[in-house]
Amino acid sequence: MKSVLIVDDSRTSRRLLKDILEKAGYEVVGEAINGQEGFDLFVKLSPDIVTMDITMPQVDGLESLKLIRKQNPDAKVIMITAAGQKEKMMEAVKLGAAEFITKPFLEESVLSAIRHC
Ligand SMILES: [Mg+2]
Repeated sequence: MKSVLIVDDSRTSRRLLKDILEKAGYEVVGEAINGQEGFDLFVKLSPDIVTMDITMPQVDGLESLKLIRKQNPDAKVIMITAAGQKEKMMEAVKLGAAEFITKPFLEESVLSAIRHC
């Protein structure tokens, strides 16, 4: 069973993602509400996959992605994006993002992104 760390400042988004992932048999090992907490939990929990919201207060998803990939160049990080974030998506590709999921979440696109990791 693959382990997943969810990083998102929205409680609703975290709950939706967690429901979709657990129903599909993934183990959600942690949840973080900003990029710093996400990085700290990544180091502590070594999850197989991270889902990373881009827009978060304090340390955002791009900065957290950068920290995580520096810590582990093989880390699988799926970025959660919203409409109109093309530039940030391109930045995330450069920083080594594995996949993208667009809000609002569709079960099939979430699971497809996770399977591709
Ligand atoms: Mg957000």
